[in-house]
Amino acid sequence: MKNLVDMLEQNRTLNNEDFYALLSCDDTEVTEYLKQRATSVRKEIYGTDVYIRGLIEFTNYCKNDCLYCGIRRSNKNAARYRLDDEQIYNCAETGYKLGFRTFVLQGGEDMYYTDSKIAHIVSTLKEAYPDCAVTLSIGEKSRESYKTYFNAGADRYLLRHETANNAHYAKLHPKELSLENRKRCLYDLKDIGYQVGCGFMVGSPFQTLQNITEDLHFIGELEPHMVGIGPFIPHKDTPFAGKAPGTLEMTVKLLSIIRLMLPYVLLPATTALGTIHPKGREMGIMAGANVVMPNLSPSDVRKKYLLYDNKICTGDEAAECIRCLQMRMESIGYHIVQSRGDSKKI
Ligand code: SAH
Repeated sequence: MKNLVDMLEQNRTLNNEDFYALLSCDDTEVTEYLKQRATSVRKEIYGTDVYIRGLIEFTNYCKNDCLYCGIRRSNKNAARYRLDDEQIYNCAETGYKLGFRTFVLQGGEDMYYTDSKIAHIVSTLKEAYPDCAVTLSIGEKSRESYKTYFNAGADRYLLRHETANNAHYAKLHPKELSLENRKRCLYDLKDIGYQVGCGFMVGSPFQTLQNITEDLHFIGELEPHMVGIGPFIPHKDTPFAGKAPGTLEMTVKLLSIIRLMLPYVLLPATTALGTIHPKGREMGIMAGANVVMPNLSPSDVRKKYLLYDNKICTGDEAAECIRCLQMRMESIGYHIVQSRGDSKKI
């Protein structure tokens, strides 16, 4: 089994059967070796640096009805909010003073924010902070819309593909949404010139190990700059309320596998990972992740951006969050750096 890890490191991929074998193997000697190789590759490229992204969750209105998500349209219990331009700029100002050099604007698919509104927010942020990167994570749009935001100065775009299997995709999403369009969006974004992030939930309902091998092949094919993976966590007001969450072990294993597939990738240890285990983000970093995404949203709206239950850090101020993460990273020998944190791949 250990030689599968070596093969993965050398060839940056495995065939279906070998991916399957590695994913289903729970021999600790093998998983430890996988983690060790991933960490070694990560340290060769990024040392012990950890990049930070300031997450601004600017709206929880959403026109979509994804079955897993707490801010889905049909969740009548969600208390909806929108941040206005001033509130968004204030979040960025606070973040900048705390050392953030990337701002991520994330939200539901909220048609209130027209393309020109988004472009205005992006260009205002880029003018105020020319040394910062702006990342958008606002879902599926037309190629024209993506171009508009890019021309306004947006640098990066996060759009998880969620699953690379059509039948699985249909079990997680309403019928209006398709994997085909999701992929179209990702390829458009890449083609336009964004640094692009895809990704998926680990342990989402109905996901099989075979599905995960398909996700890995898709990631290998797209070659994104970033990959966002975190455990699925049920939300009480969704159809998946009673489903089991994804596991720490599988998430950490996948972080290592993805690091070996794409050595330069920007790989966050997600808030969801920190939610299923108190040391989840530390374990993610020690398995090959190199990014953390603390929240910069105003404290009064944090409890409303709930994609899943028991989300951590919803009561903290931005300053507390970054201090807490700094300590957590130092405790495992890693260091948060003040930088845009672009991929080192040239
Ligand atoms: N509307 C944007 C942002 C979505 S929220 C978009 O479509 O890209 C960001 C990510 O959170 C989603 O892509 C999804 O993978 C994840 N997410 C949603 N619900 C979740 C849940 N219940 N558990 C874990 N992750 C979840």
